[in-house]
Amino acid sequence: MTHETDDPVGDASMPRPVVASKRLYMRAFGCQMNVYDSERMGEQMSDLGYAETDDMADADLIVLNTCHIREKAAEKVYSELGRIRQIKSQREAQGKETVVTVAGCVAQAEGAEIVRRAPAVDLVVGPQSYHRLPELVHRTRLESRAIVDTSFPEESKFEKLPERSASRAGNRDLPRAATAFVTVQEGCDKFCTFCVVPYTRGAELSRPVARIADELKRLVSLGVREVTLLGQNVNGYHGEGPDGRAWTLAMLIRHLAQVAGIERLRYTTSHPRDMTEDLLAVHRDEPKLMPYLHLPFQAGADRILAAMNRKHTAADYLRLIERIRSARPDIALSTDIIVGFPGETEAEFKATLDLVEDVQFAQAYSFKYSARPGTPASTMDGQLDEAVKAERLQRLQDLLDRQQRSFNASCVGKTFPVLFEKTGRREGQLIGRSPYLQSVHAEAQSALLGRIIPVEIMAAGPNSLSGAVRAA
Ligand code: SAM
Ligand code: SF4
Repeated sequence: MTHETDDPVGDASMPRPVVASKRLYMRAFGCQMNVYDSERMGEQMSDLGYAETDDMADADLIVLNTCHIREKAAEKVYSELGRIRQIKSQREAQGKETVVTVAGCVAQAEGAEIVRRAPAVDLVVGPQSYHRLPELVHRTRLESRAIVDTSFPEESKFEKLPERSASRAGNRDLPRAATAFVTVQEGCDKFCTFCVVPYTRGAELSRPVARIADELKRLVSLGVREVTLLGQNVNGYHGEGPDGRAWTLAMLIRHLAQVAGIERLRYTTSHPRDMTEDLLAVHRDEPKLMPYLHLPFQAGADRILAAMNRKHTAADYLRLIERIRSARPDIALSTDIIVGFPGETEAEFKATLDLVEDVQFAQAYSFKYSARPGTPASTMDGQLDEAVKAERLQRLQDLLDRQQRSFNASCVGKTFPVLFEKTGRREGQLIGRSPYLQSVHAEAQSALLGRIIPVEIMAAGPNSLSGAVRAA
């Protein structure tokens, strides 16, 4: 049996923290915002005595934090749920209870349908109500029935979530990593015709500057040195500033850069229409803002861009790239591209290749168009065969791979400040990030974890660099 709820949660109904340790298995699909949301869910459950495990069979609570952006992403969740059903019955046979939760955008889009297709699921919780996770898990166990909460509650989840804690994904024994995400803006009002985000994440909302600054200071106190500000349309940020007025992303970045101890800031994902002059000026003037920008253009033909409701042309995008490069000449550019949008001709696809040739990206994400139920593009004429989309994607990815290799190769011989984040697979090796967001491998002592150290780049692969630590 399923139950739809949008009851606000009173403190009295909250389960009390427990000392006995339970296990949580958390898996995030899709974008960085899901990684952030997963951490926040893990932190809440950690407060109730749940420690993270990598072993699903050991987990009292399984959370799949899902992505609905393409069909494949949703299908992956259903196949994972098939595997989980078996694990749940094996645990049941051993007298162990398992609460299976589907969170994120598939939860929002499919709601009770998930429980119908996958009866092992106990709880479906949308991206705007996951601050209720502890209470919902508690209720699922008490009431022995599936609960679906895909409401857009009055209260903002950001105001209800506990303070950031030292743990990642709820494991209190792990130190917090040197890098973290902070969601500053969520939802989208742009309604690109291919995209589900405005339906699954809802209307655009910007968090107040003071709350973001508090979260950042807290993360810094826990050892974080680099923060990526997240939003579906992060450069459309317009949160309330300390003066009561709406602040832009540029104002927010300048403000956060003054927090003692924060050494690097990044932001993603941006829309070309919201790349304002003040933001370009921050790229020029603010050394803590890293020289890397992810700026999706989606397609190179103006007719397709108009059908996508992108509200920019290819020429607009190229002009913008020129302005960005004149503000910050060494900036590394990344993008998102869709091939095979309904009605896309071979000539229109070639316009996408031409735009990629013109810009020269350091990195990029490219996708076959996937019809998403409920979006305007899904019912447009001219849906293309999978084979045509696959062949175009291959040609595009060959070109993007060449550009990425060439950008990486151009780094050999240079010395970059690298923020070491984790240990490598080989003994004595650490992995960090260059200012351009490349992974950098180097022989280094673990005492350098969490520190920014000069590394001379000695070799470049398609997806990473390797180098040697140099004296500061
Ligand atoms: N807000 C960002 C923007 O304005 O470009 C992108 C957000 S979306 C989560 C990430 C990327 O997924 C998009 O840039 C787009 O390239 C891709 N995407 C979204 N919907 C898609 C669809 N229906 N089919 C294929 N790719 C899609
Ligand atoms: Fe989706 Fe980005 Fe377009 Fe918003 S701007 S509808 S998130 S692709």
